[in-house]
Amino acid sequence: MKAAIFKGKGQVVVEERPKPTVREQTDAIVRVVLACVCGSDLWFYRGVSDHPVGSVGHEFIGIVEEIGTDVKDIKQGDFVIAPFAYSDGVCANCKAGFQTACIHAGFFGQGAEGDGGQAEFVRVPYADGTLFTVQGKDFSDETLASLLSLTDVMGTGYHAAVSAGVKAGDTVAVVGDGAVGLSGVISAKMLGAERIIVLGSTHEDRHKLAREWGATDIVDARGDEAVKVLMDLTDNVGANAVLECVGSDESYKTAFAIARAGAIVGRVGVPHNAEVDATGTFYRNVGMRGGPAPVRAYMQHLYDAVINGDINTGKVFDLTTSLDDIAEAYAAMDERRAIKTLVKVSEL
Ligand SMILES: [Zn+2]
Ligand SMILES: [Zn+2]
Repeated sequence: MKAAIFKGKGQVVVEERPKPTVREQTDAIVRVVLACVCGSDLWFYRGVSDHPVGSVGHEFIGIVEEIGTDVKDIKQGDFVIAPFAYSDGVCANCKAGFQTACIHAGFFGQGAEGDGGQAEFVRVPYADGTLFTVQGKDFSDETLASLLSLTDVMGTGYHAAVSAGVKAGDTVAVVGDGAVGLSGVISAKMLGAERIIVLGSTHEDRHKLAREWGATDIVDARGDEAVKVLMDLTDNVGANAVLECVGSDESYKTAFAIARAGAIVGRVGVPHNAEVDATGTFYRNVGMRGGPAPVRAYMQHLYDAVINGDINTGKVFDLTTSLDDIAEAYAAMDERRAIKTLVKVSEL
């Protein structure tokens, strides 16, 4: 089979790999229909963080091709959405809604054979706990793209909003206008935010989508300047809830600086050398929640929102490539020519 292979900084190429097979009887083998590139893939692509050489990609939807003998709920031929982390679905952490902290959790696309989503086939451990079955197969390309967004980006944006405790009438600040930040905007709107201020880039296409999804104000400055503008916009009070959707030291500092006394920063950007000021947050009673989003926990709710037409988060994909053109999928995001790239792998 063909699979995207990370070879080192700036190099993701398509190569032939052995098709994965059922290894544990709780596994399923999924034929990938759609995959995509994640903002977090750019960290290793740019050489900012380490990643083993090998298979990559953790966002995919597809058709179950084969199951182990212990798989009970998932069936051959099912159309499934895979969250970016697999989980058994039955341990205490899974039951508490934190599947990314499952005692059997693992992430797809960690360089091992047959475990990356940017490939023709993927081995899915703990298929019953991990996979979400879609009813029917007759969907528009737009709906399929929205279903693909539930594998990570939309669930992650939603987790940021839930972690920040967004509630009806809130003034919410979203730090970052990448795919996760934009998903955070639509999530804050779903939870009833009245005012949504986005702190992000100068990219018009991102502003347009942010406004369409509920942003009321856009601040295209960074660092101290961004903090100043936000404080001016909120009568020097700050935001009731803050969504940190980047993960850099600067974005963390901004997120905590604009949090109103008593607010919570919901953080989903993987921290890269980011430090939080224990003393400053203490005196302002500012809290912090969040981490790797348990997107499996939000799947049914967000799936219903997609199917009912309440959200159209597939719009976050503004470039489509084939698996053979995966290098362009990465390059376009790296060079910020695309917000997020959808990769067509096979027919549904
Ligand atoms: Zn991702
Ligand atoms: Zn578990």
